[in-house]
Amino acid sequence: MGHMSATSTAPVSLPLPSVPRRRRSPEEIDAAVPVTGPKRVLLAAPRGYCAGVDRAVIAVEKALEHHGAPVYVRKQIVHNRHVVSTLEERGAIFVDETDEVPEGALVVFSAHGVSPAVVQSAEDRGLRTIDATCPLVTKVHREAVRFAKADNEILLIGHEGHEEVEGTYGEAPEHTTIVNNPAEARTVQVRDPDKLIWLSQTTLSVDETMEIVSILRERFPNLQDPPSDDICYATSNRQAAIKKIAPQTDLVIVVGSANSSNSVRLVEVALEYGAKAAHRVDYANEIDESWFEGAATVGVTSGASVPEVLVREVLVLLAEYGYGQVDEVVTAEEDILFSLPKELRTTLKEKGDSSRGLGGRGTRPTR
Ligand code: SF4
Repeated sequence: MGHMSATSTAPVSLPLPSVPRRRRSPEEIDAAVPVTGPKRVLLAAPRGYCAGVDRAVIAVEKALEHHGAPVYVRKQIVHNRHVVSTLEERGAIFVDETDEVPEGALVVFSAHGVSPAVVQSAEDRGLRTIDATCPLVTKVHREAVRFAKADNEILLIGHEGHEEVEGTYGEAPEHTTIVNNPAEARTVQVRDPDKLIWLSQTTLSVDETMEIVSILRERFPNLQDPPSDDICYATSNRQAAIKKIAPQTDLVIVVGSANSSNSVRLVEVALEYGAKAAHRVDYANEIDESWFEGAATVGVTSGASVPEVLVREVLVLLAEYGYGQVDEVVTAEEDILFSLPKELRTTLKEKGDSSRGLGGRGTRPTR
């Protein structure tokens, strides 16, 4: 894999917050706690943008391009501060609920999905909608509807209050109970243990979810599995990549926002798999130089909603502290691309726009 070249990521138009001046030189930091061994970065791949995030961000960009500002977006289109503020600059207005959107205006539903009640309330207000729900979230919604129709009880493993969980739960509230963690799996009460299925949020820890399922199965041996994994390919690939790197690292830096479930999971997984320390940052300028004390090998990854440009900023900063050697560790190749939401495809066709937008701004292995 070797040394990484300065490659190619589509530029984001807004300037990034500048990295502050260092308070201590790399030599001073090394003198405080000496580093044993050469300094290097292990860069996880896959990392960053998944296909669902890519599609959702392009959906807002294309809506702005063809319908003009303002375009309303219910909730953060994806859970990333930089993406949201960049789109705000271009004319997107983020709202919490559809009743904040003026009647007749255009609203985009975020990648995390919405409950039928939200779709209904948008319709009641005469809003025009573009549904940017990730197709892999829609798949879980369909499962919820199907199993509820057959009068199964659904144990939905996920974090209560997260938008995705609210949306999936809202498909069949009478049939669904949310299981937040292993402790709840030990105590949850069910109506009929023989008509029971589990589903999950797409961005959970793979290991913790399996632990929850095995606790549930011990209590309810006839618990059915979902037809296919609900934790999506992007979540599991990013976790697999950091698991491989973590045991070799003194420090892991995860680029991602605090409300990004999969980014927060990457910090936890790194620590579970042997990283001596792990921190999440939105921007390079949040990195605390004391983290570098005694650190020879630094692992870097990013959540599924993170543009690669933010990772590049982190690598630039790391190089200033002497971590100029970057080895990319590739554990999977991803080439999934989702077609744009259908409402938008119709508009693009009418306008003769055959481009897909920038697209593919996630990582590609840099080989
Ligand atoms: S993390 Fe997975 S489910 Fe969520 S938007 Fe990306 S691909 Fe879709």
